[in-house]
Amino acid sequence: MQAETVEGMPGRYWHRIDDGRIQCDLCPRCCRLHDGQRGLCFVRARAGEQMVLTTYGRSSGFCIDPIEKKPLNHFLPGTPVLSFGTAGCNLTCKFCQNWDISKARALDRLQDIASPEAIADSAVRSGCRSVAFTYNDPVIFLEYAVDAAQACHARGVKTVAVSAGYICAEPRVELFRHMDAANIDLKGFTESFYRNLCSARLAPVLETLEYLRHETPVWFEITTLLIPGENDSAAEIEALSRWVMERLGPDVPLHFTAFHPDWKMLDKAPTPPTTLHMARRIARGIGLRHVYTGNIHDPEGQSTYCHGCGARIIGRDWHDLTAWHVTADGSCAFCRTRCPGVFETGHGTWGRRRRGLAVQEIGP
Ligand code: SF4
Repeated sequence: MQAETVEGMPGRYWHRIDDGRIQCDLCPRCCRLHDGQRGLCFVRARAGEQMVLTTYGRSSGFCIDPIEKKPLNHFLPGTPVLSFGTAGCNLTCKFCQNWDISKARALDRLQDIASPEAIADSAVRSGCRSVAFTYNDPVIFLEYAVDAAQACHARGVKTVAVSAGYICAEPRVELFRHMDAANIDLKGFTESFYRNLCSARLAPVLETLEYLRHETPVWFEITTLLIPGENDSAAEIEALSRWVMERLGPDVPLHFTAFHPDWKMLDKAPTPPTTLHMARRIARGIGLRHVYTGNIHDPEGQSTYCHGCGARIIGRDWHDLTAWHVTADGSCAFCRTRCPGVFETGHGTWGRRRRGLAVQEIGP
């Protein structure tokens, strides 16, 4: 942590400690800072007698994605989502798949200036049903994400957090009060995985998942990136799936996705499809009803099946919808069993397209 002159919007969740430092209470790292120092996430810093968020109103770019890319398979399927992120991260995953953004130490990556209102207006103009705080973790830019979420809700646009769920209890309430949906990364199921590869702890992530399931109406799905030799053993997948089943119930969708070598983990091979198929089989065998594979071509493992009659009710090929047998109230068109999730009449038709948005399309 090097001292420097920092500027930004006043941040919430911190207190002064006896030795004169300020402690950040936003995430379980609890960074303790002298004046001018930045936290591990790099974007929160101490400026004089307060904490500031240095990236408020600045983005690393905007894109319109299919909602299935977050991934969310049970939240307004087929609709476009306006995605954006800032810079920095509060985890240090050696396998980071977004490292150019999350590890950005120079804020020159943040070329797009956008107010919360401009983001929400842009979502409306471009026909997006939701805005996603993604690419890096919205936990560290909570004030910006919350203001943007409020602007979205004022315009009838829904909000999505894509997060590792590494957040303290009090800010957790504030962040998710403003979210309609979330995808939470459950990166592994051992403390050693979190400690050795992410410099973090598993327990706070599990607390976030239980909080979302039992104390909020937020629709959420879970993603686990399977890394060969690190978190892909049948025993670990079974333990993870059992925990989801017992603590969250059978209806929370679980996505097992394929790793590709990146950042500081270039010595591993990509995850073989057979591992993803095995993981899906184990989780379904334990009783989870909606288990998906990701980052591989697998129409069977990416489709949604009715847990009442077994019919394929949403067909997918990558992020394209290829079949739709869901009623307006989100039930199976064959047997009327309710499919868990957030559905509207019909489905979106955005497909697998990905479209970048220029700064001027967002506005100041
Ligand atoms: S949010 Fe950033 S500054 Fe705050 S405790 Fe976490 S890593 Fe440290």
